Amino acid sequence: MSLIGLDGVSERAKKLHEESVVVDIHNHMMFEYAIHEALGTPDIFDTYYAPALKAGGIDVIATSVGGNSPCVCNLTDDLVHGSLEQIDMLRRAEEKGSSFAICESAQEIEVAVAAGKIAILLAFEGARAAEGIENEESLVMLRSFYRLGLRTICIVGGARTRFADGMGEARAEAGMTTFGLRFIEEMNRLGMLVDLTHMTERSFMDSIEASSKPVVVSHIGVQAACPNPNNLSDERIKAIGRNGGVIGMEMVKTEILWEYEKYKRPITWEHVIRHIDHIAELIGTEHIGLGLDFDHFKMIDNIHRAMCPAPGTIEGFYTGIPKENHMLDEPNDLWEAPLITEYMLRHGYSDYEVKMILGGNMMRLLKETIW
Ligand SMILES: [Zn+2]
Repeated sequence: MSLIGLDGVSERAKKLHEESVVVDIHNHMMFEYAIHEALGTPDIFDTYYAPALKAGGIDVIATSVGGNSPCVCNLTDDLVHGSLEQIDMLRRAEEKGSSFAICESAQEIEVAVAAGKIAILLAFEGARAAEGIENEESLVMLRSFYRLGLRTICIVGGARTRFADGMGEARAEAGMTTFGLRFIEEMNRLGMLVDLTHMTERSFMDSIEASSKPVVVSHIGVQAACPNPNNLSDERIKAIGRNGGVIGMEMVKTEILWEYEKYKRPITWEHVIRHIDHIAELIGTEHIGLGLDFDHFKMIDNIHRAMCPAPGTIEGFYTGIPKENHMLDEPNDLWEAPLITEYMLRHGYSDYEVKMILGGNMMRLLKETIW
């Protein structure tokens, strides 16, 4: 398998990619954005992120502004404060006038995209920042973050939270707590998208049963194609089919190809298509979308591994752990996203299927959950 290169993207793929509303439901630009902010860099989004997203034809991103650990909360262990700081950064940039719009409903997304702006949904990876005070099961934090614009929450990061067990806590098999079930019910009622990435099998099944609305698994692969314990079993995939949810396909090699370090050839979207094929066979292409999980920004080596540890380890705390580039070899950056379309067309998916996988399915899900 050799690389296609951007020059190898056909006119048909270019046109289809451009015509499609491309949704990336799991973005991590805030890892680096927050560092630019601390350095006093002006016009951060327009200078560093808009050009890559525009070149990649990406119209909508759900960007993580907080959650479970310091690396997603502006490098502070005061998770609430760090999340508020990151929301404040984006709000101030938006007020000044920028090429993005923070959207709080599917309709606002459509308006922003039609106006040529990049639509941003505020997301949490892990819900610890919304746990509230100890010994009290209060939904005050959830509702308060909702009022600030938060619209999607991945309930767990790696480890156990007050809501459910994450994949790092596979030993206890405790699943979802009563507080967690109430949290999901309130998210459904408010109009928020429930994200079931990083859950243990039991937490996942409890949560999907609890949700009265379709869910997302924002960034993941499938066990059948790569037996990483974080990936989806066939039972989970079928449950998503019954629920009407959507699975976001990512660019992270560890969840795409098992023991990828041993593989001597380039790892590309063709490998992701093995996952896509499997989901399509089980529940249909209408349940597939993109959640690229791109975190390999220039100013940082890697902090994602610290946040999403292997099972048996605790939620990470440290940042800047040096790591080789663990993104796919192709596409290797957000601006190379048109290659995703080229790979899927070459593999035999129809124009309609590709368009829906690029964003149509995710937009349908957002209309059903965020209004
Ligand atoms: Zn993750």
